[in-house]
Amino acid sequence: MSSSGTMRAWVVSEPGPIEGGPLRYVEKPVPAPAAGELLVQVAACAVCRTDLHVSEGDLPVHREHVTPGHMVAGRVAALGEGVRDYATGDRVGVAWLRHTDGTCAYCRRGTENLCPASRYTGWDADGGYGDYTTVPAAFAYRLPDGLTDVEVAPLLCAGIIGYRALLRASLPAGGRLGLYGFGDSAHLIAQVALAQGATVHALTRGEASQRLALSLGAASAGGAYDSPPERLDSAILFAPVGDIVPVAMRALDRGGVLAVAGIHLTDTPPLNYERELFYEKELRSVTSNTRQDGREFLALAVRHQVRATTHVYPMREALQALQDLKAGVFDGAAVLVNDQG
Ligand SMILES: [Zn+2]
Ligand SMILES: [Zn+2]
Repeated sequence: MSSSGTMRAWVVSEPGPIEGGPLRYVEKPVPAPAAGELLVQVAACAVCRTDLHVSEGDLPVHREHVTPGHMVAGRVAALGEGVRDYATGDRVGVAWLRHTDGTCAYCRRGTENLCPASRYTGWDADGGYGDYTTVPAAFAYRLPDGLTDVEVAPLLCAGIIGYRALLRASLPAGGRLGLYGFGDSAHLIAQVALAQGATVHALTRGEASQRLALSLGAASAGGAYDSPPERLDSAILFAPVGDIVPVAMRALDRGGVLAVAGIHLTDTPPLNYERELFYEKELRSVTSNTRQDGREFLALAVRHQVRATTHVYPMREALQALQDLKAGVFDGAAVLVNDQG
């Protein structure tokens, strides 16, 4: 490859309904890595619902004609000035968080996920729906050998953010965990919790999701508004439905914690203090993730053989993959792959 060459990449030409084809597959120059950045040849890029929000304009435009994609597995193709800890050919992952200032109060106390200066791949900067992308070396992940490119890509958003939600839910050793909603994130993090000895109860609509939960080892699977068969030490709400908050709070045991994992949540109904908060129950939110969360999760994913259900599409069919995601054509994660021939 030559960094003066061109490549194929998807760009959001005009955000709008995905059925109308707001993305185009264009020829554009291979980006030059800035100082401190890696140029990454994309092998696989998993498709996130956030890519759909960027393409349809649900998220405000942060960069005109942005290339979506923030779950990239690839190889380092070139180094920007000053990069010392990577070499050409190294296998790396590119995820959602790509910049924090490192100087604010949140960054200094280890909560860079709260940094007001944070920037994101595939929204503020071009992402992985193409042949090449760039990433600040400090925000790249070294990918473990135990997982293929297609296997590891879906872990880089759904998995990492699910892991932060699991941490926020403060699940005690051998504890009882309720997962409200059982999609991408939940099916990955359930595997970690089960491997660590937790009892998992899935509370989700849809028989397919309930069957998936049981097949992974959940002790029970019921509807989102049902009571689990026992009190919960911890719960994570993945469904963006505020009406479930009091339901989940009532399901908690004394001292239990509910973590709300979504970036959006519809309004919650009033909470009854005695039934839903007293006895030191806690309601917490989850915001993005830190790099430390990402590194920990990737290590756990290898140790516990965490696997996403994947559906592979050629890169040139990214638009189809997004349309299929919106239409609910598949369960699990779509992964775009580049023909490396
Ligand atoms: Zn994502
Ligand atoms: Zn900061």
